[in-house]
Amino acid sequence: MGFCSVLPNFASYLFASNSKFMSQKTKCLIIGSGPAGYTAAIYASRAGLHPVMYMGGQPGGQLTTTTEVDNFPGYPTGVDGPTMMIDLENQAKRFGTDVRHGLAEKVDFTSQPKKVWIDNGDEIEADAIIIATGASAKWLGLEGETTYNGLGVSACAVCDGFFYRNQTVAVVGAGDTAAEEASYLANLCTKVHMIVRRDEMRASLIMQDRVKNNPKIEIHWNSETEEILGDATGVTGIRLKNRVSGATEEIALTGFFVAIGHQPNTSIFKGVLAMDDQEYLITEKGSTRTNVEGVFACGDVQDSTYRQAVTAAGTGCMAALDAERWLAAHHLH
Ligand code: NDP
Repeated sequence: MGFCSVLPNFASYLFASNSKFMSQKTKCLIIGSGPAGYTAAIYASRAGLHPVMYMGGQPGGQLTTTTEVDNFPGYPTGVDGPTMMIDLENQAKRFGTDVRHGLAEKVDFTSQPKKVWIDNGDEIEADAIIIATGASAKWLGLEGETTYNGLGVSACAVCDGFFYRNQTVAVVGAGDTAAEEASYLANLCTKVHMIVRRDEMRASLIMQDRVKNNPKIEIHWNSETEEILGDATGVTGIRLKNRVSGATEEIALTGFFVAIGHQPNTSIFKGVLAMDDQEYLITEKGSTRTNVEGVFACGDVQDSTYRQAVTAAGTGCMAALDAERWLAAHHLH
């Protein structure tokens, strides 16, 4: 019997609480609170792992920045992102997850138990760790991106494209994501303006061909967005500048999709966990195992391909099952 199993029904216990910061030991620590983190929490709680979750810098994750979520199974009339995340939080708490505010800022996975330092001063020791820190969309840095976020500005065509049916939209970027989003939007919208900053695209040739041959997509080469135009109803247009000629033009549209890449939130794991060249965590095929024993990764932090709430939730479930099996195999559960 592992020593944790004699504890009462608490997520963790104090072994030194004489300072204002908490030093604690838990069987299972979950870092991050998007669909992956909460799904891992639901499964881990129900398996009796008494997980502790630190929610991170953006509690609820990327979905809290979207409005309507229409593609998550089980919500026949849709749900707004923040509400869905509160539902997930309540579901995780119902089974006993200890959900806390705080951002993990340093880790040491060289010893067992592993150690994690939180920005509020807490120090946590954990037998198993589930990383669900997600990824953040990159933005251009224009004021209008903040002003009109959710009012015409989006970083996810699959999430929000449906709201722009039969309207004119723009996609910024020239990688595979931008090409894919432009093609996706062309199926729904009247017209898609693709804003490309150079005279060539980075996307794979097949994706380039697809956008170039789509009559609904107009590519603006050597172009950058100077300003997102709008009013109280949201986005009404953009002003583009040609980087070669310096000429500017205004385009009327209602949707502005930024697709210039995502940055996985992995800075604290540099030199600790294996990452690919874009800094996504590498997991073993068909599992959520990282290269460090007892450390699992789920959701967008290890997925540059699908990046959907439902796929994140799926891998969150996998991470909890992997963690439970690992703890059992090491007589820690
Ligand atoms: P990428 O990093 O591949 O592309 C980003 C694009 O955004 C580039 O064209 C870049 O321009 C442009 N960009 C960056 N910053 C700015 C800016 N400030 N203003 C204007 N444009 C900017 O990111 P993706 O998300 O497209 O792809 C990430 C990875 O995922 C890639 O490896 C991709 O192949 C893969 N992927 C694969 C898919 C598939 O196989 N179906 C689908 C989606 C992604 P520039 O070229 O000038 O640097």
